Amino acid sequence: MSCGMSKATFLEEEAPRLEQWLKNNGHGQMDYMANHFDKRLDPRELVPGAKTVISLLYNYFPEKVQTSGIPKISKYAYGEDYHVVVKDKMKILWQKMTESWGEIQGRMFVDSAPVLERAWAVKSGLGWQGKNGNLIQKKAGSFFFLAEMIVDVEISEDGPVTDHCGSCTLCIDACPTDAIVKPYVVDGSRCISYFTIELKSAIDNQWKGQWDDWVFGCDICQDVCPWNRFSKPHQEPRFNYHAPLLDKSWEDWQNTTEEEFKKLTKGSPLSRAKWSGMMKNLSLFD
Ligand code: SF4
Ligand code: SF4
Repeated sequence: MSCGMSKATFLEEEAPRLEQWLKNNGHGQMDYMANHFDKRLDPRELVPGAKTVISLLYNYFPEKVQTSGIPKISKYAYGEDYHVVVKDKMKILWQKMTESWGEIQGRMFVDSAPVLERAWAVKSGLGWQGKNGNLIQKKAGSFFFLAEMIVDVEISEDGPVTDHCGSCTLCIDACPTDAIVKPYVVDGSRCISYFTIELKSAIDNQWKGQWDDWVFGCDICQDVCPWNRFSKPHQEPRFNYHAPLLDKSWEDWQNTTEEEFKKLTKGSPLSRAKWSGMMKNLSLFD
């Protein structure tokens, strides 16, 4: 886990960017992204008396990846649900902080809608935001979960780091749905992760055959990023490769009943897609 600190203030630079992105419907049907506009830009609206945003990164890069030719699942979903795992880690850290600093008022967030987590991680010097929208570290790539603690303790700030995307456009060129509409701007409503996880309605037929075997999420723009050559396998047993789920063939998936799906995905991020969602995703490949 790495961490960095920022002063809990209004995200001035982010405000117009977020407004424009929402205006362009970059969030598609993810209505929660448009909610709590003020809270998303100012942590003091979320946590009264907030002084510091502590940004945390937790590595999920797996040692073993799926073989080719089977339905592909994003690496972040290989193991147990990160919301639970990362929250558990944060609770331990919070306990240690109170042991050292005394009582702390604040809140913890793991991938939680009202916090602009990437902006905070960038401000805290944990990496730069790449052209694919992900937070990237020079020495460790981008396969991280992001989390935040917003606390009433004053801690000195870490400054941002420089951008090392340079003239590279590999992620933009590789995105099969042209979701990276320009460097640093991802149209969420065109992203395969959105189609296969967030979208509740049917996926439009225009997308049929547009992406290679992805049935839950997409890692393409991270897999092609040169900085991910430096990713190191995580050491978290709860994120370990869940073979009964990840080694399923197309045929296995087609024959999976709702009951089997529930059992198989219990505690996994895939449970979020529900059986009906997964069948919808698979039907794109009929
Ligand atoms: S996750 Fe996939 S679809 Fe989304 S921007 Fe990256 S390459 Fe494109
Ligand atoms: S693939 Fe290239 S342009 Fe895209 S995020 Fe990585 S370094 Fe930046």
